[in-house]
Amino acid sequence: MSSILVTGGAGFIGSNFVRMLVGSTDYDVVIVDKLTYAGNLTSIEDVLSRRCRFVQGDIADASAMEALFEKERFHSVINFAAESHVDRSISDPQVFIRTNILGVQVLLEACRKYDVQKFVQVSTDEVYGSLGETGLFTEESPLEPSSPYSASKTSADLLVQAWQKTYGLPVNITRCSNNYGPYQYPEKLIPLMLLKALNTETLPVYGDGSNVRDWIHVEDHCRALKVVLEDGVSGRVYNIGGNCERDNLTVVKRILEVVEKPQSLIQFVEDRKGHDWRYAIDNTRIQLELGWKPLHTFEEGLRATLEWYMQNESWWKPLLEES
Ligand code: NAD
Repeated sequence: MSSILVTGGAGFIGSNFVRMLVGSTDYDVVIVDKLTYAGNLTSIEDVLSRRCRFVQGDIADASAMEALFEKERFHSVINFAAESHVDRSISDPQVFIRTNILGVQVLLEACRKYDVQKFVQVSTDEVYGSLGETGLFTEESPLEPSSPYSASKTSADLLVQAWQKTYGLPVNITRCSNNYGPYQYPEKLIPLMLLKALNTETLPVYGDGSNVRDWIHVEDHCRALKVVLEDGVSGRVYNIGGNCERDNLTVVKRILEVVEKPQSLIQFVEDRKGHDWRYAIDNTRIQLELGWKPLHTFEEGLRATLEWYMQNESWWKPLLEES
């Protein structure tokens, strides 16, 4: 039985990934997570067992990672652990450099030393910067990050490529667009706006709300990651996207419609510094080479997500009280 390390597995995408892995494979899974504000044990408590264990740890702590790799002898490693919120990276970039860059270097060194057979770095389309009205990001698009967050993710991608070229470490990098779905911390657009709408608070929309994101349901992202982990050609970058461009204002208006709250709750606020205008992913490579495609439509996936939040107040309410 293969043993897989999932870092950041108590976060939004990581917890969805672990749930899918445990439900669809017989892998032994070890989750490592520092449990920052974004990590939440209640997101994974239903999947923990003898073959899916949780270890609290920091990926940037080289001696802790070395001890773990020595003990567990992982077959594969998939790295979700990151500081992930652009606004926080603008106000406090330091921790982004530590976790998102140094943490990746620590993992790469441990993978090299302990002969890990596949390292997957979960990256983002934000490494490509911003698009204008037309065009799509391909895997060959130039790396032009705008925020401290995306610059830290780009730096990590370059380290991953260097470890493959220099040391022959088998790696993949995935670059996915904006995810939505259950267990997303309520600082990101969809859960943030939903919870404000439910409380009949104003919904702050950056600039004029015209920024476009290419939305993907987290389950589609997780299926893509499993395919890359198992079948990705070493050294390859794979873009992952939902073929679903929506501007922020359209998304926020739709949330208000679904929860039957007035559109007048929308309040335009000063734009985010360096705000990328449009992201859109060309996912031809992963479709043709690995046979993956997104299954959720935005309409159905958004409605299901909003319903999940409405039915799982016990998951998000403590998070609002802590923040
Ligand atoms: P998240 O913030 O919900 O989860 C990140 C997890 O990493 C948390 O559980 C946190 O406790 C953990 N963590 C943070 N620092 C750590 C450290 N030093 N050591 C160990 N664990 C640590 O983020 P997410 O939205 O689930 O994103 C997961 C990954 O996917 C990130 O690498 C992010 O860059 C990437 N990504 C996210 C999106 C998106 O739309 N959310 C899109 C593309 C790529």
